[in-house]
Amino acid sequence: MTVVARAPAKINVLLAVGPLRSDGFHELRTVYLAVGLHDTVTAGPGEGLALTVSGEGAGGEVPVDGRNLVWRAAELLAAHAGVRADATLHVDKSIPAAAGLAGGSADAAAALVALDALWGTRAARSDLLELAARLGSDVPFSLLGGVALGTGRGEQLAPVLTDRTWHWVLGIAGEGLSTPAVYAELDRLRAAGRVPDGTQLLPAEPVLAALRSGPPSALAAALGNDLQAPALGLRPELRRALRAATDAGAVGALVSGSGPTVAALAEDERSAVTLAATLAGEGVFRTVRAASGPVPGARLIS
Ligand code: ATP
Repeated sequence: MTVVARAPAKINVLLAVGPLRSDGFHELRTVYLAVGLHDTVTAGPGEGLALTVSGEGAGGEVPVDGRNLVWRAAELLAAHAGVRADATLHVDKSIPAAAGLAGGSADAAAALVALDALWGTRAARSDLLELAARLGSDVPFSLLGGVALGTGRGEQLAPVLTDRTWHWVLGIAGEGLSTPAVYAELDRLRAAGRVPDGTQLLPAEPVLAALRSGPPSALAAALGNDLQAPALGLRPELRRALRAATDAGAVGALVSGSGPTVAALAEDERSAVTLAATLAGEGVFRTVRAASGPVPGARLIS
């Protein structure tokens, strides 16, 4: 028996970062949107764990051992359910690694769903969400999908209403950016007084109102990401990438999560296709993908 699960990439349409907490994490207020760019995880019988990876980042930055979140998800679920961690796992990646799109988190969420089915462990949804939070701050959202407000480290989720499908173009610029390095740069900019210190978190209400009733220009005006300044500090060429997106007709654009992906919002599906074609022809981005959302979180597809 083999099972296949898939999970989506996310964009943070709002990412407000509070000051550094004593536990080393930052307090977040974020609005996640799951978009239609998916990784798949195939799980079959095995003795012990074996993992292979294909697609984006394979043979490079995506590890195939205990450092991979899929491997850690397997060990965690097995320990929780009291079963042996026996499985042959394959991850096929369409979500670029270290791009601010939560690719690793998507894989971990898909692995939890696939292995729960393979092993017949029938974990409660609340238990899966709790295991997900132990794997990483974005993993619970990768399970849930849709649109959600995240607080705490981003792992405490509340669903958000939206009245439409939002059409985006994702431009992946250059090499991956390390999330801890971007947070460290934010702390440095704050210590130097170059950006606000984060004690007043950006409000979520303008983004939530725009998601509820549009139009795209209202969402574009409400987009915000405290990690954009440090990502631009580490990757100055991202400034040109953001400008290229708006010059090419995006209603708004921001760096997704810790970057370096630029998420460009289009007016509608047709404009997204045109925007993607224009940006792909400009050579600013390594990869350009149209992706719309919200879409569901991790689930079995066979
Ligand atoms: P986030 O938006 O959640 O901060 P990200 O999308 O920027 O994350 P990921 O694609 O999750 O980044 O990868 C970050 C790092 O995690 C990679 O550089 C890699 O070393 C490690 N990693 C572990 N497991 C995976 C996986 N399954 N896919 C990709 N990277 C993984």
